[in-house]
Parts: sequence; C-alpha cells; structure tokens
Amino acid sequence: MSNYVVGISGGIGSGKTTVTDLFAKYGIEVIDADVIAREVVEPGSPALKAIVHKFGQFVLNESGGSSSGTLDRAKLRNLVFNNIETKNWLNQLLHPAIRQQMLLQTKQAKSAYCLLSVPLLVESKLYEQVDRVVIVDVDEQTQLQRTLLRDKTNEQQILAIMRAQATRQQRLAVADDIIDNNGQVNDLATQVAQLHKRYLQMAKQKE
Ligand code: ADP
Repeated sequence: MSNYVVGISGGIGSGKTTVTDLFAKYGIEVIDADVIAREVVEPGSPALKAIVHKFGQFVLNESGGSSSGTLDRAKLRNLVFNNIETKNWLNQLLHPAIRQQMLLQTKQAKSAYCLLSVPLLVESKLYEQVDRVVIVDVDEQTQLQRTLLRDKTNEQQILAIMRAQATRQQRLAVADDIIDNNGQVNDLATQVAQLHKRYLQMAKQKE
C-alpha cells in the first residue's frame, strides 16, 4: 500500500498526462481527478440520481446510443453557467464524492508511492493533503500553442480556461518540486527519473 502521495498539477496543456505516463512506466500508480470526476456521475451513482432529481431526465444523453443514460456534460455546464446558486449546489454534491474516491484510491494503490493528478490542485487546496507537490511548469505561450495543437477548440476558449485556472505563479508557490516542460518531450525523462528516485526514498522514510 502506498502511504506516500505525490500531488501533481499544472495548467491545461502543461504536460501533466505526458509526465504521469512517464511515472507510470516505473509502475507508479496514477490517480486522476478528472477520471474520478467522471466516475462519480456514472449511471447508477448516487450523484447522478441527485442531478436527475434536481434537473430532470433531460440532463441525460438520449436513449439509443452507447452513451444512453449517461450525463450530458455540456447540458449540465450550460445549466450552471452564470448561475452561482446551481453551481454551488453541484459543487457541494460532487466535491465531497470526488475527494472521498480520491482518498480511497490512494489508499488502495499498491506502488511504493502514488501520484494524485489534480488539475485544480491549487484552487481546491488539495495540496494541503498530500505529502509532496510537483508542478509541471511551462510558459503561457507554449502552453497555449500545445493545447491548440491537441484540442479542437479555438484560441479564445483556451485563453478563457487559462484565465479561470490558478496562475503559473500561484502554482509554483505551492510546489515542492518543479518539472520544466519548456523543452522537448525527451527532456522530461531525466527529470522524472530523478524525482522517481527521490520519491522512493521519501516514501521509504515515511514507512
Ligand atoms: P495536460 O495533461 O497537462 O493537459 P498533456 O500532457 O496532454 O497536458 O500535453 C499537452 C499537449 O502537449 C499534448 O498534445 C502533448 O503531447 C504535448 N506535449 C507535452 N509536452 C510536450 C513537449 N515537451 N514538447 C512538445 N509537445 C508536448
């Protein structure tokens, strides 16, 4: 069981997934808050039942397709957009469920330490609850260009997401370790190898 949890974060397109894939190659388990956020609203979940109870069946995808009965995230986003009351209701429903599931999965992880990947680590103050924080850092221009290449959205949408997230400075302020992803993907492997070694030692010391 890993009782040493390394929180990893970075802005949209900073390279979190690229980095966590490298840690995973060492057998390190990665718990992804985005994946959990989808799991807690899967069909049959108490959270999805509560959402349908509040908004009605129309928040579900139409019957017929493979996504039938699943939450239509775009519809839900529209409902909470600019509606602070609804947004708070939803956050109060989902955040404890996500937190509880994250804790459970870190406890169940079997690697020497585990990574908890949380895009909103700073905003959610979850950095206070992990043993160590590593931030994937990239300058904003590179971040924008890489996200543009990856996602099929426009520049304005990505800039809006970047503005809604914590700033680069706010993230760096909570970092114990920083992974510099301004260079090539190849440059990441050495940094990850060094950190992996360090985290193994730290996890051992905590035992
Ligand atoms: P995040 O998970 O933080 O949103 P990703 O790991 O998906 O970020 O990286 C964003 C995009 O940038 C992906 O398409 C990824 O392949 C690419 N990428 C990541 N690191 C580099 C790099 N050093 N050089 C070029 N492209 C990169």
